[in-house]
Amino acid sequence: MKVIIIGGVAGGASCATRLRRLDEKAEILMFERGPYVSYANCALPYYIGGVIEEESALFVASERYFRNRFAIDVYTRCEAIEIFRNEKTVKIRGLETGQTSNHSYDKLVLSPGATSVHPPLLGIDLPGIFRVRTVPDALAIREWIQQRKAILTETVRKSRFQQEKAKAKAVVVGGGFIGLEMVENLIRQDFDLTLVEMLDQVLPPIDPEQSRVVEAHLKAHGVNLVLNDGVAEFKQADAGRIEVKTKSGKNIVSDIVILALGIRPDVNLAKKAGLVIGERGGIRVDEHMRTSDPDIFAVGDAVEVKDFVTGEWTLIPLAGPANRQGRIAAEVIAGRDSGFRGTQGTAVIGVFGKTIAWTGINEKTLLQRGETDYEKIFIYPNSHAGYYPGAKPITLKVIFRRSDGRLLGVCAFGEEGVDKRVDVFAAMIQMGATIYDLEEAELCYAPQFGSAKDPVNIAGMVAANALRGDMPISHWNSVKSSFLLDVREPSELKQESVPGAVNIPLGQLRSRLNELPPDQEINVFCEVGQRSYYATRILLQNGFNAKDVSGGMKALKQFCAYHSENEVCKKEK
Ligand SMILES: Cc1cc2nc3c(=O)[nH]c(=O)nc-3n(C[C@H](O)[C@H](O)[C@H](O)COP(=O)(O)OP(=O)(O)OC[C@H]3O[C@@H](n4cnc5c(N)ncnc54)[C@H](O)[C@@H]3O)c2cc1C
Repeated sequence: MKVIIIGGVAGGASCATRLRRLDEKAEILMFERGPYVSYANCALPYYIGGVIEEESALFVASERYFRNRFAIDVYTRCEAIEIFRNEKTVKIRGLETGQTSNHSYDKLVLSPGATSVHPPLLGIDLPGIFRVRTVPDALAIREWIQQRKAILTETVRKSRFQQEKAKAKAVVVGGGFIGLEMVENLIRQDFDLTLVEMLDQVLPPIDPEQSRVVEAHLKAHGVNLVLNDGVAEFKQADAGRIEVKTKSGKNIVSDIVILALGIRPDVNLAKKAGLVIGERGGIRVDEHMRTSDPDIFAVGDAVEVKDFVTGEWTLIPLAGPANRQGRIAAEVIAGRDSGFRGTQGTAVIGVFGKTIAWTGINEKTLLQRGETDYEKIFIYPNSHAGYYPGAKPITLKVIFRRSDGRLLGVCAFGEEGVDKRVDVFAAMIQMGATIYDLEEAELCYAPQFGSAKDPVNIAGMVAANALRGDMPISHWNSVKSSFLLDVREPSELKQESVPGAVNIPLGQLRSRLNELPPDQEINVFCEVGQRSYYATRILLQNGFNAKDVSGGMKALKQFCAYHSENEVCKKEK
């Protein structure tokens, strides 16, 4: 059997090596348009930032390694330009020689990845404007940074104001995860940084009140955030700099511009070959990664996948799914009945010492879909036992189905232990778990690592309390006309308070029940939701109609940062 693989990085390389492990006899050829195979695109921002110092660290495996270890023939700087499905051949053009040759296949695997979105903006191809997709991109950015810094140092040296510390300026356009990684790494390179994002939030896959926490963190680290504003055009400015003009009329002069505007599946080859392209613009494949042609498989960023939670077609361009899909395609080619389960978009990003991670569906997607059968909780558990030094709070939003408790999505932000919790949630979502399963999850514990009730268990317990009716919950957007009861201590109210809320500290509640309205809904809150839970239990058992405002004051701050026009937030201001 002769198998040709197009694209030699995440999905392609995984497919090639897995196939070799399953079939010692197969003839495997891998063609890659770029100069390298199997490189770590995920490492590129960190190479630019200098965290990864050596260029050689970017390469996971070389052509020679593929040949010697796996007997796979790898051809770099070779582009597949056409597939002849009737003849089962693919036309390859050598990019150095320009010569073309046709190669026959029994099975063909496409893993061409994606292309960066490159809108037709005036000046978008000016020198100093980069995208971050390949090793050559990263090398060019590093070189440009060094040049700009040298020019700046020379200008400062010649200047009469020698003591002046001039900083090079950078603009990152696009606040997705690659944009944020570039923000962090350019600040690491001592740039004065502006992030321009067309949406009104960074990190589109998370809910806006969660992104507000991330945005505050970015600002605290000196990032100039321009949200709700797109780039209108780029112009050449003096001394090799670029002027970035935004739609709202801002002019930002910068030494370097990074475009992180998102990507589109690279379907050129597949489209030309008449393979079915789905409504989201990716190559349509079945669960075995087979395209509409049974002898052609496709994997990675180029394909549409089923969203694990909604069951709908989607695009999730991430390395984990690409690698797994490559492996599955190899297994199917080798005669096994392997299938891809779908993707839930599990992702993580680190910025300035904090971690943001998410998995499953977010609330804004549920709302867009008109779904009402869901509930959410906001909790702020410690990363490990509070008495052990160094515990840090985790901001956690958990979404689950109201009717049966199925876990739907999670987003977490914090300094410690975020990734490990989201990984547990991700595995639970993939296993179809409910919040009742989270209550029972048995996780490792010692004081420096977690708590006897891990944040995952706490999420399950809080959510289950809500669904079982032990602790009915409410949210800040629905409490406006009800009786608000603040059970914090008076000293805490001096820091911040909600106007109109009645304060009865938890310790006095049992003796002051007569001050509460017996026939009105009482929404109880505290700082994070623990004392208000105890208070809610007291009230419910005394016949009151009480609800716990999920996440308390901390959730209120998140909520108001996004819904500043809400009645409660206006009052709070
Ligand atoms: C800067 C950056 C950071 C990232 N960080 C993360 C991260 O932290 N976590 C994460 O999960 N994901 C991350 N990703 C995404 C991840 O790298 C991709 O999802 C993954 O590489 C996709 O694998 P793929 O095989 O589909 O495509 P790729 O790995 O992009 O490989 C496709 C290859 O196919 C080649 N090709 C295309 N067309 C042809 C043709 N006609 N002929 C020959 N060769 C062709 C291309 O040159 C390319 O090298 C990051 C991506 C980038 C760019």
